[in-house]
Amino acid sequence: MIETIDLPRCTGCGICDIVCPADVIHMTETPVESEVPGLTVTKLLPVIKFREHCITCFNCEIFCPEKIVDVHPVVKSHPRAW
Ligand code: SF4
Ligand code: SF4
Repeated sequence: MIETIDLPRCTGCGICDIVCPADVIHMTETPVESEVPGLTVTKLLPVIKFREHCITCFNCEIFCPEKIVDVHPVVKSHPRAW
């Protein structure tokens, strides 16, 4: 099951969202610190929205170019054919 995404290192590429067959990860506008003090900016970052739907397929961990997604090998439900 997906555990964590190291968001400070995330580029926001969205690949983890695209390759997830269970629609667990959703790209979401998230407030982040800007380089200019006092200025709030938003960045499109992945959110683990439906962790309980994760089928532990490891796609997000394998395809993340930054290798910052952590999936643990505990299968709670069986993968569907896709
Ligand atoms: S392990 Fe598979 S089902 Fe779970 S969040 Fe990652 S891509 Fe989605
Ligand atoms: S694939 Fe990796 S770098 Fe790209 S949005 Fe997902 S966590 Fe971030």
